[in-house]
Amino acid sequence: MRTYMPNTLQIDQDDPARQVALANDLRPSILGLDKAELTTIAENMGEKAYRGAQVFQWVYNRGVQSFEDMSDLSNDFRARLTDTYTISRPESVQEQISEDGTRKWLFGYRDRQKAETVFIPEDERGTLCISSQVGCTLTCRFCHTGTQRLVRNLTAGEIIGQVMAARDSLGEWPTPTDGTRALTNIVLMGMGEPLYNFDEVAKAMRIVMAGDGIAVSRRKITLSTSGVVPEIKRCGEELRVNLAISLHAANDETRNMLMPINKKYPLKDLMEACRTYPGVSSARRITLEYVMLKGINDSEQDARDLVKLVKDVHCKFNLIPFNSWPGTPYECSSTETIGRFQDILARASITCPIRTPRGRDILAACGQLKTNSEKLSVRERKAQAEKAWAEKEAELQH
Ligand code: SAH
Ligand code: SF4
Repeated sequence: MRTYMPNTLQIDQDDPARQVALANDLRPSILGLDKAELTTIAENMGEKAYRGAQVFQWVYNRGVQSFEDMSDLSNDFRARLTDTYTISRPESVQEQISEDGTRKWLFGYRDRQKAETVFIPEDERGTLCISSQVGCTLTCRFCHTGTQRLVRNLTAGEIIGQVMAARDSLGEWPTPTDGTRALTNIVLMGMGEPLYNFDEVAKAMRIVMAGDGIAVSRRKITLSTSGVVPEIKRCGEELRVNLAISLHAANDETRNMLMPINKKYPLKDLMEACRTYPGVSSARRITLEYVMLKGINDSEQDARDLVKLVKDVHCKFNLIPFNSWPGTPYECSSTETIGRFQDILARASITCPIRTPRGRDILAACGQLKTNSEKLSVRERKAQAEKAWAEKEAELQH
């Protein structure tokens, strides 16, 4: 495997000159607009409808950052576009490169909210892990993102902006067509619950999937959900992307405790949604993510219960060693325990690789994403997490 020099690049987002420049630029970014919207814009600016499709291709397939570079458009149209819009990406407030090549960006948005994006290079593919929200309302007990106070949905522009900015950084424009792409796969496994922001996520993913857009096929896109049952079917019907479910427990009692959303959508409903997920088959299976928590969900009985739970679901497991974070009450199961757990699933013919943690040195691994802009001590973090959990419990009582 190649080794990389760990490195960190930091931009001061609070730089006053930068703030003034940003505040004075009232033009919205064109990122996030789809072909139909760009067509309407072209027509409203007195151009032929097909000019909208040309702008779409310049923006999402060639990655230009200035309307001036759209050489097959009239000077007048380019000038009008420049007066009205930018093609600006989210700002990379911090970029870190791990010794294993994993890159993590902290992207800042116009309201100065921030969310993280991670790129994981492997021999055969390169996966971009993107965020769908700033923070997350779901407060799963083992997840760092769930302890973050500020939560808002990201817009389609902010979601696609992560892909664009990552490809700027990887130097991948125009979109290579000869199989040499570094960014081949996209997973919605960053911060947030994508099915609580489905419309914006779907809009962004359609641009990602468009052949004359980012051109990543739906087979290379995986959406991970904590189990928002009513939206799962919609996701399968409208987007037809791969589905991953954060399962993490073999029974309702443990899952209720770890993931409050289970009280709303218990395992029975969740498994039914998996069984009937549009397009699911033995060739196209659902990934069940299972974080290994010492003494909580990692017993041999849990493994046997899982075999029963998923017996008529086309699925594979992904066993995730728990990534610790400051203030967490949990520990990762031992290697032996994870091995025994894996054996039981494997003996029942269930595919169940153990996920190799990537980017540990830059805290880029699963569930660790949380902007560290809040400068808190471990004790304060713990108190904040307890408060978030208590509020969620109270909300679910009603
Ligand atoms: N909200 C979505 C997607 C983001 S989380 C979801 O929950 O599916 C991406 C994955 O990381 C989920 O499977 C999540 O359960 C897992 N995860 C969260 N915290 C973790 C931690 N500390 N260690 C390992 N995995 C974690
Ligand atoms: Fe939200 Fe997913 Fe973390 Fe749960 S695991 S708090 S749903 S990001």
